[in-house]
Amino acid sequence: MNQQDRAVAVLCDFDGTVTQIDVTNALYLKFGDEVCKAAMNRWLRGEITTPRELRTCFPRMHARKEEMEAFLDTVPLDPGFERLVWFCRERGYRFAVLSDGLRWYIERILRRYGFDGLTVYANEIDFQEDGVRLSFPYHDPALPKRGTAKPNIVRRYQREGMGVAFIGDGLSDVEVAGVADVLYAKGRFLEHCREHEIPAIPFSELREVVENWREPRLH
Ligand SMILES: [Mg+2]
Repeated sequence: MNQQDRAVAVLCDFDGTVTQIDVTNALYLKFGDEVCKAAMNRWLRGEITTPRELRTCFPRMHARKEEMEAFLDTVPLDPGFERLVWFCRERGYRFAVLSDGLRWYIERILRRYGFDGLTVYANEIDFQEDGVRLSFPYHDPALPKRGTAKPNIVRRYQREGMGVAFIGDGLSDVEVAGVADVLYAKGRFLEHCREHEIPAIPFSELREVVENWREPRLH
């Protein structure tokens, strides 16, 4: 850990948090068939796992990778994202994206906005001639519903001595509640925190995270 490192990590969900829309769902709605849309809805109801949803949908997309990428190039970011990244850089905080979506589109969208080289934890897709290969490098059988086990990554940073602030909006974030030291929440994630009486700072745009910043306790 270098001298300037203030031993804080800011870990941020991607879909619906960094971007204004859920990118996988938008891809399914635009390029998926009825089976794919049904799988999306089953995932949203908590009935199927992320690996199952991705493995159902991506082989059925009626678009080539390039067509999907043209769509990705229209996805807007939360306007406060740049401010959040700079806030972390100025304070020497570690910043990473934690996603139950796909590294493929996360890195493409971030690169388009000039955010190369950010740390990303996500599921992987490889487009081959004969189809797609999906893999889940951060999967944990103890958390079977998710491709990426976000609480494990939060704990990794805590084991290095860092206090962790987590920012999220959805169902794939709920297991982080009670694990990260400070939570910024909106949408379904905020509902979950409220239902379980887990303290979370509500936000609707990322600029509010910077404006309402609370330093996580160090480990
Ligand atoms: Mg999300």
